[in-house]
Amino acid sequence: MINVTKSYFPDRGKLDKYIDRVYESGWMTNNGQLVQELEQRLKDFLGVEYLVLVANGTLALQVAYRVLELSGDVITTPFSFVATTNSLIWENLNPVFSDIDPGSFNLDPHLIERSITPETTAVLPVHVFGNACDVDMLDVVCKRNNLKLIYDAAHAFNVSSSDQNVLKYGDASILSFHATKIFHTIEGGAIIFKNEDHYRKAKLLINFGISGYDKVDLPGINCKMNEFQAAMGLAVLDDFEQISLDRRKVWERYSDALAGKAQIRLQDLNKEFKNNYSYFPVVFSSEAHLLYIRQRLNEHDIQPRRYFYPSLNKLEYLKHSNSCTVSEKIAESILCLPIFPGLDEKIQNEIIQIVSENYIQ
Ligand SMILES: *Cc1c(COP(=O)(O)O)cnc(C)c1O
Repeated sequence: MINVTKSYFPDRGKLDKYIDRVYESGWMTNNGQLVQELEQRLKDFLGVEYLVLVANGTLALQVAYRVLELSGDVITTPFSFVATTNSLIWENLNPVFSDIDPGSFNLDPHLIERSITPETTAVLPVHVFGNACDVDMLDVVCKRNNLKLIYDAAHAFNVSSSDQNVLKYGDASILSFHATKIFHTIEGGAIIFKNEDHYRKAKLLINFGISGYDKVDLPGINCKMNEFQAAMGLAVLDDFEQISLDRRKVWERYSDALAGKAQIRLQDLNKEFKNNYSYFPVVFSSEAHLLYIRQRLNEHDIQPRRYFYPSLNKLEYLKHSNSCTVSEKIAESILCLPIFPGLDEKIQNEIIQIVSENYIQ
């Protein structure tokens, strides 16, 4: 069966060399040498200064909200993975959904100000499928209204402009290193801050608030990354350049074959930033069209995913919500096609053929 993604397994010998170091040190967690090494290598690779490794991307969001002392309402996108919304609810924050741009699938910065109330403290956009948001306009809107700006950059590992990495925008950004993401530590994540004080506070909060022997400064939580996660991360990072090249090949085959085809539409990419080839979303003419194509792919043992469905403003457990017509329309008609290093070219051609089939309404 061909799934939408396939976790990257580094060479076992290479991974073992890192794991040997964990055994030799006798140290499994609590900011060990491999976590420190991965943190430094990621800072260098991404060109960021204040990066904290954590146990997963969802906790990265939650810790970022705590560090920035959010309260009340947070304006966010309805078109994302459910963790974006759930992390707010878990922290007793109220998600307020503002609609997306139909081309980029990212939060439309022109609509945000309509949703601001005296309770609003922050904006939480997502660089969805690794496509950078309109970062300059979001900056203007947040500064003008004195709001914090936190990016869910879970899809945006290795996305930069000629100037700088996309993670440098806003007060904070988070990454997810879940096994399904393009760079992973099995489970894991990171928070990137603009400001050193925030970084220091996060370092305390992820380890119970403990600042030294017999000293606890803050009511922190436990969301540390451990040495085995870091060993996997180091091994995957060693291969990352090749992973990127391989994904790019697959991505470009789809793009060359599907761009401009009748009845389907691709994501409009932010040209100022480079692509990380993390996902390949396709918007169909209707939900019925999507279901027909999915059925045809399933017949060939190919499992695309409905990323993202439903539109998050439609989650049944929300206490308050509002309609977001663009997001709802896209959520019901979008599929992500299988993309991973080593996707067989023959199978990819089959996928392309089926996705291009003419659909009679
Ligand atoms: C994967 C993901 C997360 C959650 O990350 P975990 O590491 O799985 O907790 C959050 N937001 C988005 C947009 C994601 O895709």
